[in-house]
Amino acid sequence: MTMNEPAPYVSPSLRGKLCREESMRRHTSWRAGGVAQCLYQAADLADLQVFLGTLPVTESVWPVGLGSNLLVRDGGVAGTGILLHGALNELCVQPDRLIYVQAGVPGAKLARYAALNNFQGAEFCAGIPGTLGGMLAMNAGCYGSEIWQHVVRVQLITRSGEFIERVPAEYHIGYRSVALRGGDEEDSGMGKSGFVPASFSLLASPSEFFVGAWLKFLPGDAEVSRKKIKALLSQRIASQPLNLPNAGSVFRNPPNDYAARLIESCGLKGRKRGSAQVSEKHANFIVNTGGATAENIEGLIVEVRDIVEAQTGVVLHPEVKIIGENKTDE
Ligand SMILES: Cc1cc2nc3c(=O)[nH]c(=O)nc-3n(C[C@H](O)[C@H](O)[C@H](O)COP(=O)(O)OP(=O)(O)OC[C@H]3O[C@@H](n4cnc5c(N)ncnc54)[C@H](O)[C@@H]3O)c2cc1C
Repeated sequence: MTMNEPAPYVSPSLRGKLCREESMRRHTSWRAGGVAQCLYQAADLADLQVFLGTLPVTESVWPVGLGSNLLVRDGGVAGTGILLHGALNELCVQPDRLIYVQAGVPGAKLARYAALNNFQGAEFCAGIPGTLGGMLAMNAGCYGSEIWQHVVRVQLITRSGEFIERVPAEYHIGYRSVALRGGDEEDSGMGKSGFVPASFSLLASPSEFFVGAWLKFLPGDAEVSRKKIKALLSQRIASQPLNLPNAGSVFRNPPNDYAARLIESCGLKGRKRGSAQVSEKHANFIVNTGGATAENIEGLIVEVRDIVEAQTGVVLHPEVKIIGENKTDE
């Protein structure tokens, strides 16, 4: 960990905001965890391109959306996080009827926009509290739909600031996982199917990351989609502990079963570690009951995984991404 090293050089022509030693509690839905050595909020795509060009090639860079699937360990994370929410906000219907969406657009906004423009099929995005970039990285989905079912092309920026486009055939796309074919999956920072590192650590320093996508949806009816969105959100409020900070489902569902069912069957609902707790409402959610540390949360994840494996023989694989270093006592 090199938290005390000087922050990267920043050109005076940049229009974005660079924060140093920024608490990631403010940028993750668990409201827990350590600091980012540097965090850059780009003003727009052009500004992001200039910023990447100013960074030393050795600087590790990790994209962040709304932090709704992310835990930063208490010892913090080195390198520079790139905040895309609030920056890459463009959303438009193109002449070919594809919707172009930039990576910082929240799922809820995309769902509403598609509905308003009489497209059907984007309603599921309303319940996912992340950005399009995070949804692409995770192949986020619910109620039988996944984002990559609608992707025609994606737009990426490379670590050196070059824009490229790719098509779905260039990726391995699975349940909550996306990886560039022939690429180093861990290095891509874009998830890996069935991957269970001992510590769940992921070095999220991709050589390229998503800045936008062209999505295809079928023609629909705005009023029908609006009602679907409303029903879907009511269903979520009824089944998920949305009153406490959380990161959605902690584990992927194993084949032909549900992680929540297995966790509940092991009597783990309500299990606590510090201020982190397995939700009483939904066993695959871990909630921050107030002041939980990343260590509380990660420790509980490990505990749940180990107990479920010991009692049922099923190994649960985490869906949430954990980055950074543990806190060391000095
Ligand atoms: C209450 C709740 C309900 C949820 N329900 C669902 C659900 O139904 N279905 C579902 O799939 N998920 C669900 N989630 C999880 C989460 O919302 C999704 O995984 C979402 O796609 C994450 O988006 P984000 O912008 O918050 O990404 P972040 O959490 O910020 O990042 C997640 C990962 O994506 C990477 N990433 C982010 N942006 C980019 C980018 N532009 N390019 C490349 N990589 C990037 C990050 O580096 C990180 O590895 C839920 C979460 C919560 C809190």
